[in-house]
Parts: sequence; structure tokens; C-alpha cells
Amino acid sequence: MMEQTLSIIKPDAVAKGVIGKIVDRFESNGLRIAGMKKVQLSEQTAGEFYAVHKERPFYGELVSFMISGPVVIMVLEGENAVLKNRDLMGATNPKEALAGTIRADFAESIDANAVHGSDSLENAVNEIKFFFTEDEIC
Ligand code: ADP
Ligand code: MG
Repeated sequence: MMEQTLSIIKPDAVAKGVIGKIVDRFESNGLRIAGMKKVQLSEQTAGEFYAVHKERPFYGELVSFMISGPVVIMVLEGENAVLKNRDLMGATNPKEALAGTIRADFAESIDANAVHGSDSLENAVNEIKFFFTEDEIC
């Protein structure tokens, strides 16, 4: 099924200068960049975006980390985009991520883990709406 999903290149990967290498993983694996912007998130925006994790012990750290530098936010489009992106990302903890995945290759730790990706089609729709207007997706 043709889908769209939200991807974020997190501050650690942007700071490392691997935006291009990560985008290449998507484009080389059948995911088209339908929307893209580089932004410095505010504490309020990052907190709202990760509100589902509010009760988790790492919520404060997660929000601080996500505003520690600019991020690149993308809408990825393709066949089974949600699952395909999750496969390309690898496990949340880079130490458990399969070889060749983005997190295995570019991430250092479970909190600085290079990328975010929507975990379901329903969340993808909501996350895309959270960051993009219709005219920014083409
Ligand atoms: P994913 O990003 O793989 O979907 P989650 O949705 O479970 O993972 O968590 C969101 C983000 O919160 C993770 O990408 C990671 O940056 C951070 N995180 C998750 N678990 C932990 C943890 N145990 N300690 C610190 N940060 C965590
Ligand atoms: Mg998640």
C-alpha cells in the first residue's frame, strides 16, 4: 500500500554531518522525500510532539535532547513506507540494531539514536499533520 510516514533526523546525526547519508538510505530504498525542512524545535513543540511519552522516565531528557540542535523533518512516501522506514532505522537501542541499519551505522546510544520514525499509519498521519501544511508536501 502507498503510504506516507514522518521521519526526523535527530540533533546528534545533524551535528555529525550525516544528513545526506541518511537521506540516501531512504531514496535508495524506494522512499521518496515528499516533504523536508530543517528546524530548531522549541521546548514546547518537542514536548507536544513526544507527549505520548510524558509518563516515561526519559521524557525530560528526550525533549532536552531534541532541542539541543537543529533537526531535519521529512515526509517519506512509498510502498509500505511506515514499516519500511522502521526497518531501515533499526532498533531503538543502536546496540541492538541490525547491521546496516541507520541506527547501527550512525547512532551512539538509546537517547541519541539518530532518527525518529512513525510507528503506525495512524500515528504517521497525525505526526505529518503536526509538522507540515498541505502545500509543503509535494
Ligand atoms: P522509537 O524512536 O524507536 O520509536 P520509542 O518511541 O520507544 O522508540 O521512544 C522514543 C524515543 O525516546 C527513542 O527514540 C529514544 O530517543 C528515547 N528513548 C526510548 N527509550 C529510552 C530509554 N530507555 N532511555 C533514554 N531514551 C529513550
Ligand atoms: Mg516511537
